[in-house]
Amino acid sequence: MTGHLTTVAGVAVDTRHWIGGERVASAATFTDHSPIDGGVLGEIARGTAAEAHAAVAAAKAAFPGWAATPRAERARLLHAVADGVERRLEDLAVVETADNGALLRSHRRGVMPRVAHNFRFFADWLLTLDHEDFDTRGHTNHVSWDPAGPCVLITPWNAPLMLATWKIAPALAAGNTVVLKPAEWTPMTASLLADIAAEAGLPAGVLNVVQGLGPEIGDALTSHPDVRRISFTGSVPTARHIAASAAANLTPLSLELGGKSPLLVFADADLDLAVELAVEQYDNAGQVCLAATRLLVEESVAEEFTRRFVERAGQLKQGDPRELPTDLGPNIHERQLEKIDGFVQRAIGAGARAVIGGERLAGRFYAPTLLTDVAQDSEIVQEEVFGPVLTLQTFRDEAEAVRLANDTRFGLAATLATGSRERADRVTGQLVAGTVWVNCFFVRDLQAPFGGSRHSGVGREGGTWSFDFYCDVKNTVTAP
Ligand code: NAD
Repeated sequence: MTGHLTTVAGVAVDTRHWIGGERVASAATFTDHSPIDGGVLGEIARGTAAEAHAAVAAAKAAFPGWAATPRAERARLLHAVADGVERRLEDLAVVETADNGALLRSHRRGVMPRVAHNFRFFADWLLTLDHEDFDTRGHTNHVSWDPAGPCVLITPWNAPLMLATWKIAPALAAGNTVVLKPAEWTPMTASLLADIAAEAGLPAGVLNVVQGLGPEIGDALTSHPDVRRISFTGSVPTARHIAASAAANLTPLSLELGGKSPLLVFADADLDLAVELAVEQYDNAGQVCLAATRLLVEESVAEEFTRRFVERAGQLKQGDPRELPTDLGPNIHERQLEKIDGFVQRAIGAGARAVIGGERLAGRFYAPTLLTDVAQDSEIVQEEVFGPVLTLQTFRDEAEAVRLANDTRFGLAATLATGSRERADRVTGQLVAGTVWVNCFFVRDLQAPFGGSRHSGVGREGGTWSFDFYCDVKNTVTAP
């Protein structure tokens, strides 16, 4: 570490905020550790209300110019950011892995290319976002999509740059300016993105990044009267806090929150496929909001499904996320591991049986776990664990499957494994979920609506839905 630069996996990262096109330090710092070995990655600027206000002021000052920039030019600049992401793909991949412990091979092959795609997709979509005109008794209605203003974007640590750019790209494309507050456990790639955006020629103040601890810097951002949109991805308790803070100015909110999604396995399913879908739920060491952590399996195939699942899960390789054969890396933080183990031990204490796993391993690893003999109203079935922990319950018929699937306060996603199209249609129609996957998982198109029902969130983002959120839609009626 020298001055404000730290070296992460061989890549220099500036640990300061990025405000109004300049690096800005804070009086205090916080320490960022790697979940891989607990090593110190850097001392990061610990923002306060002063830096939050400065970032919003920079976003406000840059807004008129950016909003007035022709769409084609905004799109060109966003493609230039995507080019920069692609040029620095390896740097972003290794830094993200060091920071959040997710697999290097997925950062290289899936996540970082997707980050670039986020910018390209919304840049292109912007150009297709046309004004609608229609006629009312000879009067013309002209619908336009006006940028809303400075947006505050607050994001979690489980897929840091992917989730941040899923918000940044449409917000900027729409003509807004942005203040991003990345999670304090994973501040690094947001800082690299600020460098990339500057090199791409994004004007000063259009994208600002403030670092800091959520409870310290959050309120100054979310209660600021000049902020026109807040998009948040994270936990339900933080969402409640942000919603209360935003209420003072009635700032529109998009909330993408937790889940406790089901995987319904019907007796007519291809069981090998169903097992693959189930084992996939351990991806990212179970730190995926969409994960189908409740396996609901039709009674008649439950024994065979469990046998094949145990065999398949036994082949997963847990270890260093930088090594290519690794399937499961570490969990993010000591605090998170304690939380995961607390859930599991309380469940076992209440009578659950660990078919596999059920314990912490050395370092920051948790054994992939499958719990059976769990009650529907138990904590382990109702609460999000956010670790590699699945429960298995059985059902007798479709009606019971749907009842169990929907008996949760969440409604983010659901996955079905069935050989019958008719059943898939019937069941899908009854499920409460923002996304339903039939015989597949995690297939996501950026033009599709994404979001959750109930406590899984408010609103949808993706394609037109993102522009709905990030724009003030205006109708102008003109007399003949
Ligand atoms: P978190 O709520 O603890 O933190 C998320 C962000 O909020 C961080 O940047 C944090 O610094 C910030 N924050 C904390 N307190 C704040 C405050 N008072 N004001 C403003 N900001 C504040 O969540 P987390 O532990 O980082 O993330 C895990 C959660 O995110 C899980 O519940 C997971 O399901 C959810 N998640 C949801 C989605 C989705 O798309 N629905 C995607 C990924 C993660």
